Amino acid sequence: LKVLAQYDPIKDAGFTKGQTIPYLVLAKVLEKIEETSSRLLIVEYLTNLFRSIILLSPNELITAIYLCINKTGPSYGGKELGIGESILIKAVSESTGRTMEFVKQELKEVGDLGIIAQNSRSTQPQMFQPPPLTCQTVISTFRQIADLTGNASQKKKRDLIMKLLISCKDCEALYVIRSLQGKLRIGLAERSVLLAVAKAVLVTPPNQSVCLDARRLKSLYKAPEEFEEKLLETTKKVTRAYSQLPNYDLLVPQLLKENGLESLLENCSLKVGIPVKPMLAQPTTGISQVLDRFENMEFTCEFKYDGERAQIHMTEDGKISVYTRNLEDYTQKYPDILQNVPKFITPGVKSFILDCEAVAFDPQTQKIMSFQVLSTRARKSVQLDQIKVPVCVFAFDLLFLNGKSLVDETLQKRREVMKENFQEASGIFSYAKFNNCTDIAEIQIFLEEAITGNCEGLMVKTLTEKSMYEPSRRSYNWLKIKKDYLQGMTDSLDLVPIGAWYGKGKRTGVYGAYLLACYDEDSDEFQTVCKIGTGFSDELLTSFTEALTPHIIPNARSIFRVNDQLKPDLWFNPIQVWEVKAADLSVSPIHTGGSGIVDPVKGIALRFPRFVRVRPDKNPEDATSSEQVVEMYKNQKINNTNTATAKDED
Ligand code: ATP
Repeated sequence: LKVLAQYDPIKDAGFTKGQTIPYLVLAKVLEKIEETSSRLLIVEYLTNLFRSIILLSPNELITAIYLCINKTGPSYGGKELGIGESILIKAVSESTGRTMEFVKQELKEVGDLGIIAQNSRSTQPQMFQPPPLTCQTVISTFRQIADLTGNASQKKKRDLIMKLLISCKDCEALYVIRSLQGKLRIGLAERSVLLAVAKAVLVTPPNQSVCLDARRLKSLYKAPEEFEEKLLETTKKVTRAYSQLPNYDLLVPQLLKENGLESLLENCSLKVGIPVKPMLAQPTTGISQVLDRFENMEFTCEFKYDGERAQIHMTEDGKISVYTRNLEDYTQKYPDILQNVPKFITPGVKSFILDCEAVAFDPQTQKIMSFQVLSTRARKSVQLDQIKVPVCVFAFDLLFLNGKSLVDETLQKRREVMKENFQEASGIFSYAKFNNCTDIAEIQIFLEEAITGNCEGLMVKTLTEKSMYEPSRRSYNWLKIKKDYLQGMTDSLDLVPIGAWYGKGKRTGVYGAYLLACYDEDSDEFQTVCKIGTGFSDELLTSFTEALTPHIIPNARSIFRVNDQLKPDLWFNPIQVWEVKAADLSVSPIHTGGSGIVDPVKGIALRFPRFVRVRPDKNPEDATSSEQVVEMYKNQKINNTNTATAKDED
């Protein structure tokens, strides 16, 4: 409370009521965030900015949030920034009156185009001083840029970027350029933004003439713990609302209503047509761990199908959409699912959201086919008559039906409602096979049945108590048992290539080995876990070289957490996710994944990593988190205390 009271949201705002927020105010907050690694401070800076906005210019809160998370709209809209480096270099060189060669040379030395833009004072004579940038101008220009497509778009994009750069002062150019590159790289995670929004709304309730100053806060919350409790409750509420309705354009207006917090969850729950981040499962090392976890709780086992997650929405007006795990719209990829929906809904169904796995299916043998077969289907769009790999939809959850959200119901209830309203249709739609097993022997038999049936293993889920659907959470109420674990393997990891070494010998001409990283959610940074050179066919190596070369960045040590001893020949912007298997995990003096958790300085590394496949359904930020890497390390059956610090096997 004391800290919050030191900031006066009106006097310290840097702008006045009725004035559109200068971009410099926001850029200065981003600068302060970049200078600290303390999450507490980061949230404090943002909270104060948002408090000022709530009091002085509430309509701009949405804009400020989007600029902080570097998005132009909801994450499922698909309009991304991430402008190619050559356009940005050209815009910087033209707006500052330097040659492209000069900027490129400087980039090699400095490694950050944003810093170059910030430091380059324009040498062009300017007749008129351009007006100061506002947050509104910046976001609307970003939106225009993201909307531009086609051949002529490059020049238009460059002109728009130059217009912004010419108006930049102080540190503005740094953040404009970084935003356009697609990543602010200031260690700001979206969850800190959400936390700050919740905190700001709590201490500066909208539509009241003054915010709660220190004196009022103290009289309202007699003890600091009371405030902490209220804050925790508010944060949970806001996070839950956002997980169900991941759209700030809808969430923020509700928060800005008088007493909006009180009615938040009633007004911001699941909406058909707006995809939610799916609920995810925790890995286990086997059946006994499951039984320990679910002791005295009712649970159920389901086949874990090996396909692609498909969240199917049907709105009241009959519009059907299919979204991936990543909230990408794959409706065009699955015209067969669209065609089949009327065959598996019953007449009373008007709208729904089903959580399913789309699995390759052989109609002749009536058997499930592997993920590899599914991945031969066209990725983006296909005509019905060109489909060579049919899919069967295996539904395992129903989140919404006929205007009503079901996420707060028990899984048992959701299943019942699903069965009443959806009917199985051979080779097209089926409920995920389940068995409410209770002991080891039963689970073992069901697991073997799943594996024989071409499934990856089992999902074990709470059935009654603590069984509500938790969008976007990796929940301990969903556990996965994969056949790999039983064979003594670790779970696979989903990692991001951030660097590469030139190939030698047979691999001359392509990158021969890659540096892979996990993602740290708290610091919003990529941390290395292994060098990998195994599991790649020649074709794959060629295609990765072609795909990643346009994403080379000059010097990434300031962006990624990398030990000085690791010296790849090239660095890449994080753009792909690869699934990788490893023999096991060990503490490493070289890699930084999860560093500071198991050991004060060392990180965790994968031993004997092997490439499995690309994960196009994951964004780099959906890669295995450093927390998960640590968890996997701890879960290993081997006694880690005896494991001498392993040398990097690579
Ligand atoms: P994660 O995102 O958890 O790392 P992943 O996408 O790599 O996961 P897994 O960890 O292997 O996948 O398992 C979770 C996935 O399993 C789900 O996202 C879903 O696509 C799939 N799945 C298959 N069958 C089921 C089921 N019965 N219940 C829930 N998910 C299932």
